[in-house]
Amino acid sequence: MADERAVNTVAAEMEEGGRLTELKGVGPKLAERLQKLGIERLQDLLFHLPMRWEDRTRVVPMGSLRPGDRAVVEGTIQHAETVFRRRRSLLVSLSDGSGAVTLRFFHFSRAQQENLKRGVKLRCYGEARRGRVGLELVHPEYRRVSDDMPVEETLTPVYPATEGLQQARLRDLINQALDRIQKDAALLADYLPPATLPEALRMDLFGALDTLHRPPPSVAMEALMEGSHPARRRLAFEELLAHRLSLRLARARFREDLARPLPGDDRLVRPFLESLAFSLTGAQQRVREEVFRDLEGEAPMLRLVQGDVGSGKTVIAVLAALRAVEAGGQVAVMAPTEILAEQHLGNFTEWLKPLGIRVGWLSGKQASADRRWTLKAIAHGELPVVVGTHALFQEQVRFRDLALAVVDEQHRFGVHQRLALREKGEGEGRRPHQLIMTATPIPRTLAMTAYADLDVSVIDELPPGREPVKTVALSETRRSEVVARVAEACGAGRQVYWVCPLVEESDVLQCQAAEDSARVLAEALPDISVGLIHGRMKAEDKESVMARFKAGEIQLLVATTVIEVGVNVPNASLMIIENAERLGLSQLHQLRGRVGRGSTASSCVLLYRGPLNEIARARLQIMRETNDGFQIARRDLELRGPGEVLGTRQTGAADLRIADLMRDNDLLPEVAKAAEAMLQKYPEAAEALMRRWVGESSRYVSV
Ligand code: ADP
Ligand code: MG
Repeated sequence: MADERAVNTVAAEMEEGGRLTELKGVGPKLAERLQKLGIERLQDLLFHLPMRWEDRTRVVPMGSLRPGDRAVVEGTIQHAETVFRRRRSLLVSLSDGSGAVTLRFFHFSRAQQENLKRGVKLRCYGEARRGRVGLELVHPEYRRVSDDMPVEETLTPVYPATEGLQQARLRDLINQALDRIQKDAALLADYLPPATLPEALRMDLFGALDTLHRPPPSVAMEALMEGSHPARRRLAFEELLAHRLSLRLARARFREDLARPLPGDDRLVRPFLESLAFSLTGAQQRVREEVFRDLEGEAPMLRLVQGDVGSGKTVIAVLAALRAVEAGGQVAVMAPTEILAEQHLGNFTEWLKPLGIRVGWLSGKQASADRRWTLKAIAHGELPVVVGTHALFQEQVRFRDLALAVVDEQHRFGVHQRLALREKGEGEGRRPHQLIMTATPIPRTLAMTAYADLDVSVIDELPPGREPVKTVALSETRRSEVVARVAEACGAGRQVYWVCPLVEESDVLQCQAAEDSARVLAEALPDISVGLIHGRMKAEDKESVMARFKAGEIQLLVATTVIEVGVNVPNASLMIIENAERLGLSQLHQLRGRVGRGSTASSCVLLYRGPLNEIARARLQIMRETNDGFQIARRDLELRGPGEVLGTRQTGAADLRIADLMRDNDLLPEVAKAAEAMLQKYPEAAEALMRRWVGESSRYVSV
């Protein structure tokens, strides 16, 4: 019955959206090809949007053509010849009285050779490049013209390439569809109630689409290209809204599942808090309350805790874990790298063991007997808390009663992995609560899009007594001064990190570089104990090096970027980062976050090799100016764009057709408001809008 209704709805929508076969030249075969692109109805064609435009509305005099211009020129062939310099080419010189250009063809037929003769008049479109003599058009589009052939009336759209569908064909189909829908507005459903649009963008959907597909010659081409044209913004708004709706709907669906409520009785939480050498910061207390409130509920928690490096996220994770254990449930704690997972294992063990709670360990590199034993213990519920890497996502891992999953540094995990987690809690049809922690501070507006399916808590306060890390940038040529500084710091009882980041795109070479540095430093500093840690060492070796560094036996730790996340040694108060010019801002910030964790004033030296390009210079400057992760993230976003900062998958930026998270950032608050209003008042329109823009490719629908 329900299915029948669904079929009828789809049929009705098809009818409403117009049939493709109404168009001239569309038979079953082409219809099928279009269907592969998600184009099933006339109106769908309109949402296949141009990626750029060409101006063919006027003929440009050759005399005013500049290299790099894409333009239409028209002239008479003066001369044509086939030449054999490195490659055989056909050269045609064309002039229009104001100047001349050469057309150059590397591939040409005999017919072309015969048709392109002196005296023939041609109209060409192409990009002008500096050639051997004057400007050249390489493989231009061209045709013979008579005297009064009209030019194009609108700018020419260029569509994203699609297999087996050429530009001209696509343009023709979309043109036909626009004409048809212009006559019959009912064929294009407009799901957006006008009031949801910001005032400046209130125009009807057809008008906006028509402008993009067929911009009049008077249109501000710059604005169109840049994306600041209102028609384009209007559609960007609609698209961003659709994406946000898809996340909100995914969230709503997720929240329909049940989780085990974890009210807790403080039996473990209280003694834990009492055992801590410090009291929670105000921000930590607030976030703890937010987390505990979620855990009491029947709906699965989906909470992201954002906090700058060193803000104390681990304590929050431990508190949540204790709540789950108080209620008799199991907890999985996951980190993206072996070394970070080990660090968590250390923290959790140190804090939970005195409370009589066993902490298990699961990693990909574990010996298989050990692993089998752990898997069994997890399945039997004998391990209340398990810490591990990606290995915890795997199918063989079955919990007896997973009540809570903690995921650290989530930007390293894909959304899909996060979703895979919820399948692990199937006991009695209950889903696990999820606590996700990230040290990548994301500006608020962007978080609204990237994390619209999550509740967000922010730890916006560092533990007291932390002094900002003083940062300097020094040229490589001053290395000996830096070495002297290391000696001085170690002499004063402090500990030092020396980081050798990726120089070559190779793990092996990176580790080699670290090994070399360690050797050179050990020779230069005979009185200081130097340790080395890198990603290719065995887990137990890494662990023992870290343990010795923590215990103060190693004074200077040479490391690759394996120490980037989470490592915590409060007595380390100096960090040297080599090749700092090659690292991104967030990575530099993460690395630097390893110092400044104790009460001594810390410093960070960014060693670079000049000359610096503009971006590298800007990055080093920002690092010297601020310690604030949010500010750094914002500047990083400006330098690199959101896809790079968060990973395209996280932002959905890869799927955006017309909007751009960076450029259209200012629309996001309005988008968020509009989304809530639509979910409340027009849930059906919201679904339809989401289908239109996000479609079946929606990451949530397909999971
Ligand atoms: P991150 O947020 O980067 O994961 P951690 O949880 O590793 O930070 O905490 C950094 C350090 O600060 C740890 O040594 C931790 O024990 C300590 N810490 C956490 N909360 C407080 C607090 N409220 N007061 C003092 N120190 C704290
Ligand atoms: Mg951490």
